Amino acid sequence: MTFEVRHWIGGERVGSAETFTDVSPIDEQPIAEVARGGAAEVDLAVAAAARAFPAWARTSREERARLLHAVADGVEKRIEELAQLETSDNGALIRSHRRGVMPRVAHNFRFFADRLLRLGHEDFETRGHRNHVSWDPAGVCALITPWNAPLMLATWKIAPALAAGDTVVLKPAEWTPLTASLLADIMVEAGVPDGVFNVVQGYGAEVGGPLTAHPDVRRISFTGSVPTAKTIAAAAAPNLTPLSLELGGKSPLLIFADADLDLAVDLAVEQYDNAGQVCLAATRLLVESPIADAFTERLLARVAEIRQGDPREESTDIGPQIHRRHVERVDGFVRRAKEAGARALIGGGPNEDLGGLYYRPTLFAGAAEGSEILTEEVFGPVLTLQTFDSEEQAVAMANGTRYGLAATLATGDPERAERVSARLVSGTTWVNCFFVRDLRAPFGGSRQSGMGREGGDWSFDFYCDLKNTVTAP
Ligand code: NAD
Repeated sequence: MTFEVRHWIGGERVGSAETFTDVSPIDEQPIAEVARGGAAEVDLAVAAAARAFPAWARTSREERARLLHAVADGVEKRIEELAQLETSDNGALIRSHRRGVMPRVAHNFRFFADRLLRLGHEDFETRGHRNHVSWDPAGVCALITPWNAPLMLATWKIAPALAAGDTVVLKPAEWTPLTASLLADIMVEAGVPDGVFNVVQGYGAEVGGPLTAHPDVRRISFTGSVPTAKTIAAAAAPNLTPLSLELGGKSPLLIFADADLDLAVDLAVEQYDNAGQVCLAATRLLVESPIADAFTERLLARVAEIRQGDPREESTDIGPQIHRRHVERVDGFVRRAKEAGARALIGGGPNEDLGGLYYRPTLFAGAAEGSEILTEEVFGPVLTLQTFDSEEQAVAMANGTRYGLAATLATGDPERAERVSARLVSGTTWVNCFFVRDLRAPFGGSRQSGMGREGGDWSFDFYCDLKNTVTAP
């Protein structure tokens, strides 16, 4: 049985003349026929969001917070359904959807609801005049999201936008349309008014193009790749629509000789999670020369034990790649790396035993300095290993890409940890840990990994028009 997925516009399910087929990466079987939106559906959705905006913006903070908590309740009631749907749609592990991702989706709504109630008004005096600083709702927000963590990344934007008093048009990735559609039902059950939350399904250029060029859109928040971000920035430029961009990375994991070797190996193995389809993954292992052999031997033994298979099984460690086109992209990087002289110490091709979309966890050594495999984001289970001989060299290698999303370092020396992290160009730096996230922290990337920060009150700064009102005595 396949689902029929339509848009969600102004509180109604709306179809399109054409549809496209959504295929599961687990077995490449069709799971849904999805409405293929375009400029007409974008216009309808932006108009619905603009109509709903004035009343939603006037709703009290307490009422908006109450509704967002009701949405979180709805998500929690449906964790199993959401987990199953997301796993069939993007092939990520059911166990992490059940225990990590979907609870975090609910937390996204609760966090920004509570944060809204604490968001102050700042007041101060200038020569007897009162300055009153307020966070005013901005209007219609266009939210565009990728397929690797569909509902988690969408709600990371939806929750603060709705909390801020904005209305939303969401464009989910075409490879993962399902959970956004179910979220619309959850919004209705929670009592969120019609038009406050809208979803337009479809392909990037066909929906994202008109949405990002729309003159009535007041904010664009995008998570995805660098090339798409550049297209969006160009589309937004004529209207000077403010942008928040959360993009790709080529993050380093620096392992110093004084590190706990067990921990360092654990951290490296974690980088294969979600079959390498994680923006924050530290795909460049930089290891201090004296421990490189011991580290590599232990890492290879552990990588060989990674259980690859059906993500619906609780015992599976990593599932498939999202789509055949993505496998071809990943494999292209691997083939070109080999041709350029890099050695695959393990993996190095699709997993023929599983057929279809499963790619073997791969580790490269001996890649030439400046080569593509060391500088471009692969977004698959492919890591590289390089060695360094000094802290200075390690920092230079870590900072040697056009990205700056995240960095991880393993060291037993707290002073070194402080010295090195202060010099790394990265939005998030983890010391002797990985993927510990607190929604109060700023999140985003430096250099071409992004523009702006979301999280905590930084989200409200982006989704609001900050205003200062000066009143004479
Ligand atoms: P992508 O850029 O191909 O697509 C992302 C979204 O943009 C999709 O919804 C797509 O339909 C849409 N899109 C495509 N063309 C468009 C256009 N012309 N105008 C408007 N929208 C358009 O990225 P992807 O392959 O879906 O996701 C993988 C990328 O996302 C990787 O680079 C990864 O690092 C990045 N990512 C970043 C973060 C982060 O928080 N920094 C998180 C997850 C993923």
